[in-house]
Amino acid sequence: MSMISLLLILLAMICDLYFLGKCPKCKRFSISTKRVYIGTSYNDPESNFMILCSECQKEILSIVKDMWNDYYSSQGFGIYESDRKK
Ligand SMILES: [Zn+2]
Repeated sequence: MSMISLLLILLAMICDLYFLGKCPKCKRFSISTKRVYIGTSYNDPESNFMILCSECQKEILSIVKDMWNDYYSSQGFGIYESDRKK
């Protein structure tokens, strides 16, 4: 193996590492960046996952939590709750 091809492989490895560490949302590099389940239930399984750093993950999870709260209250779960107390 020549020195140049060895360097190219090394370079590719470094680029790959940086790509993996880059958060697509905030564009920052972080070791915490990974593919995470965001708590949604879309039909397409891939839509329930996002590549995020830990900061953006917290942000997205709280947004999704609010969305579920809105969904449950719109489905009349509040009435169900008060019925049960009778
Ligand atoms: Zn981020």
